[in-house]
Amino acid sequence: MIRTAKDMKTYRKKIKAALKNKFLRKALDNFASSYKASRAKAFEGMDLPALKGEIARGKDQALIVLEDLYLRFKAEAEASGAVVHLAATAEEANEIIARIARDNQVTSIIKSKSMTAEETHLNDHLEARGFRVTETDLGEWIIQLRHEGPSHMVMPAIHLSRGQVGTLFSDVTKKPVDLEDIDRMVKVARKELRPAFLSADMGISGANLAIAETGTLGIISNEGNARLTTTLPRVHVALVGLDKLVPDLAAALRILRVLPRNATGQALTSYVTWITGAVECGASATGKKILHIVFLDNGRLELARDPVFSEALRCIRCGACSNVCPVYGKVGGHTLGHVYIGAIGLILTYFYHGKDNARAIVKNCLNCQACKSVCPVNIDLPFLIKQVYRRILADEGSKPVKNTILSAVMKNRRLFHTLLRTASALQGPLVKKEAGVLRHLPFIFGKAHDFRTLPALAETPFRDQWSKIRPRIQNPRFRVALFGGCVVDFVSPEQALALARLLAANKVQMEYPPGQSCCGLPAMMMAEEETAAEVAVQNLEALEPRQYDYILVLCASCGSHMKEGYSRLLAGKPEQAEKLRQLQDKLMDFSSFMVKVLKVRPEEFIQNQRRVAYHSPCHLCRGLGVTKEPRELLGTAGLDYAPCKDEDVCCGFGGSYSLEFPEISAEILGRKLDHVEATGAEVLVTDCPGCILQLRGGNGQTGGKYPGPAYRGNCGR
Ligand code: SF4
Ligand code: SF4
Repeated sequence: MIRTAKDMKTYRKKIKAALKNKFLRKALDNFASSYKASRAKAFEGMDLPALKGEIARGKDQALIVLEDLYLRFKAEAEASGAVVHLAATAEEANEIIARIARDNQVTSIIKSKSMTAEETHLNDHLEARGFRVTETDLGEWIIQLRHEGPSHMVMPAIHLSRGQVGTLFSDVTKKPVDLEDIDRMVKVARKELRPAFLSADMGISGANLAIAETGTLGIISNEGNARLTTTLPRVHVALVGLDKLVPDLAAALRILRVLPRNATGQALTSYVTWITGAVECGASATGKKILHIVFLDNGRLELARDPVFSEALRCIRCGACSNVCPVYGKVGGHTLGHVYIGAIGLILTYFYHGKDNARAIVKNCLNCQACKSVCPVNIDLPFLIKQVYRRILADEGSKPVKNTILSAVMKNRRLFHTLLRTASALQGPLVKKEAGVLRHLPFIFGKAHDFRTLPALAETPFRDQWSKIRPRIQNPRFRVALFGGCVVDFVSPEQALALARLLAANKVQMEYPPGQSCCGLPAMMMAEEETAAEVAVQNLEALEPRQYDYILVLCASCGSHMKEGYSRLLAGKPEQAEKLRQLQDKLMDFSSFMVKVLKVRPEEFIQNQRRVAYHSPCHLCRGLGVTKEPRELLGTAGLDYAPCKDEDVCCGFGGSYSLEFPEISAEILGRKLDHVEATGAEVLVTDCPGCILQLRGGNGQTGGKYPGPAYRGNCGR
């Protein structure tokens, strides 16, 4: 039975318990590293972006005509001897299958892996009606014996050690099993499952693909059990989500090109089974297989019509969004999901298993964009996750007080900045002056927040210094506006000051438009979309992009939100379209500006060859797609760049995420700092003030070795 926390208090307890599981973290960490390498190899030489786009478009077109595809499939499959059903709900699907079993005098059922059957809790339903059900996929069998749900959509038992599996098998067989001998355990499973295969009256499978033009099912698997399940017993029932329908074989083969590669890094799985109609079957009295195909709606038809969420139905269940998710890597699928796991699980849970099961888990997202970057069907998972949270708040008709306060403050820039200035003036007793950090955290933070020091607010924000320090450049090469963002402006103005000096030395006239406010990303993260849109308009008005050659950002999160998020937010405001286009065309991050526009050369830097490690901020490498320039700049600046493991994995900051889930944030940060330490670098460089806050805070708290501004390295003119 799957139990998911319905409130934050219970969820936090679950998170703490998951974080204590050292084996889980190690197993998921090892898998994530090997997965990345094998995925990259599997896609070598393929035009993945083009293929992704093609599949996504095909899926979207199929979703528009889903009911027609179903009718076409039904006609074709029934012409080949199958019986096709459509179940509106999970309960109805389960009852149809139970009825088929009863009508055919079935007592024993074997099952191959099916997430759709997990979605409907089919086993519970059948067992409650007296049928004996045996899972035959090794991982599924293991979790069935443990009476738990899958912790990954492709590898359901990834959370278990060989020792746990061996002990389980000893208990089941009542014979000792060598806890280290995996081959032996596989043999035990084979021996135990064989009688179930041979005596089963009915086999239940899922399907990865349902081809409408021929009424064909496609099943992709690595164990022979799916083929045995669908061929040996006299009755075969396939339970298939309506979203698996594709128009033709060409569409199915396109999906087949990416699914195994993206799921496990295999060019192809060991078995790809195509089933068209009822074929010969020695176990059946008539000599023909009794084939029933049950399509499950359970909200899919409505979801397909949803203007915001329909893209979630593109999902081909490859599980990659879990494989790369830093949160999943720390807490596993039983904590980051309900039946469906990981990023897509946070979305589908709301639609298939209700808001109560989604309410707590949907907040557990860093917005690091890693899932989006590997999704083979281009689902904007982080965006949809925030939209689910927004729907839940709307359904419940009330929102947290912090949302109301944040909205009121954000919409009023002067009030927002006055509050920050006031906080700066009052923070004195809390500040360790020489270090510029808070001596202790305000009482609202618990012990869990002690994993990092937090910086004090700057005495004077950058905006209040600007008029006094603004350089005036004669005949500038470029005129640029800096969009500072809140952290640079009010916490780390030294970053903007360094930029101003650097640009002046390069004959670039920098301006700091004073009407600029927060970029609005924190409001988006809290599902306050109207506030985020209002702030976006304020920034567009303040920046007047037409007047500048470039709009520079030091904060990648602000930059990627303005480049991508603003398009969505301002889609209904045509009067802002031209300004927005100019802003997005001219927006550039610091490293790209240095490398591509100023084209800085090594002789302009002090070549001190200090060894530096680099952290690639999520919103720079995945949000803005900037990966080469920062590393190139390190080399140009005469630094000895030491590549670091998982450079592009999130540092665990995620804005308000690190306040909401400090335990997970701390774990992710700790891992990041370990990797950096392993490089032997003297300086850690990164280019996002949020990451700097997190990395410097974690490093400071552990008495670490990377003190001082991380920009020191690449500004060493
Ligand atoms: S955005 Fe990052 S943290 Fe959120 S679900 Fe995706 S991978 Fe996980
Ligand atoms: S959402 Fe994308 S990455 Fe995640 S399981 Fe579905 S297809 Fe795979």
